[in-house]
Amino acid sequence: MRRYGIKRLGAGWVVALGMLLFALAAVTAHAQGHVHTQVHIQAPDRVGVGMPFLVRFSGPEDFQSVSLRWLDNDLGLVATKGEQGREAAVLLGVDLETPPGTYRLTGTVSTAEGQHVFAHDVLVHVREFPEQRLRVSREMVSPDASLMPRIEQERRAARAALERVTPMRYWEQPFVRPVQGSVSSAFGLRRFFNDQPRAPHRGVDLRGAEGTSVRAFSNGEVVLAGDHYFAGRSIYIDHGLGVVTQYIHLSEILVQEGDRVVAGQVIGKVGATGRVTGPHLHFGLSVLGMWVDPLPLLE
Ligand SMILES: [Zn+2]
Repeated sequence: MRRYGIKRLGAGWVVALGMLLFALAAVTAHAQGHVHTQVHIQAPDRVGVGMPFLVRFSGPEDFQSVSLRWLDNDLGLVATKGEQGREAAVLLGVDLETPPGTYRLTGTVSTAEGQHVFAHDVLVHVREFPEQRLRVSREMVSPDASLMPRIEQERRAARAALERVTPMRYWEQPFVRPVQGSVSSAFGLRRFFNDQPRAPHRGVDLRGAEGTSVRAFSNGEVVLAGDHYFAGRSIYIDHGLGVVTQYIHLSEILVQEGDRVVAGQVIGKVGATGRVTGPHLHFGLSVLGMWVDPLPLLE
């Protein structure tokens, strides 16, 4: 993680100002004789596949907003009052299906002086994930054909919840670990149920006895709550700007769709509903519709 000033040509950053904007900014800076147009960006140069990352912007009082593009998604951030001046933040990531390579984060920072274009390259590198072999009941690996409409309907509802990109940020740091228990299954495990290959593990399993309180990762809105075939009793919370969390296999759901929740609020209880081998919380974090490893944000 490194810090750069947009108007300083730091390593890893390409600063491109349009000719007119450049002229305006130069004139203004000269006329006012100080550097109040400086907006700093903090972003990683390298991330592993399946990893989330934070990008932070901090600037002076006239720093207004950021529009940015990451992996074909466009997001708008409004700068808010920070410890010094104004700041904005966004949580981005790459899922397990993103091919390793270099991806460019691009955007525009707006201040009272005008718009400043930026670009930052992020190297996405390979990570190795171990295999995991699990035994579950036969109908949890090969459900009866009569269950397919239900399973398909639940899959579509979950997809719709995960792909929400609410143009406001509700989340704040620090993030809350939904249950205190240690990790029993890490993100990214290559999974075999009864020796049949299935999708990799797209969340973390946290240990917790049946009935343990499950807390919201951050502020947000409950956008889906129900009892699903594979996931069991499930809650999805939209934290804004494309960040959605998933809490599944619950024994109890204590919120309803449409409820606003605050970080750390008890939303349900650990259980063993759906396709499980015992009670635990499966906690999923989705960024712009991509599953990422929540663990780096919980410690
Ligand atoms: Zn899990």
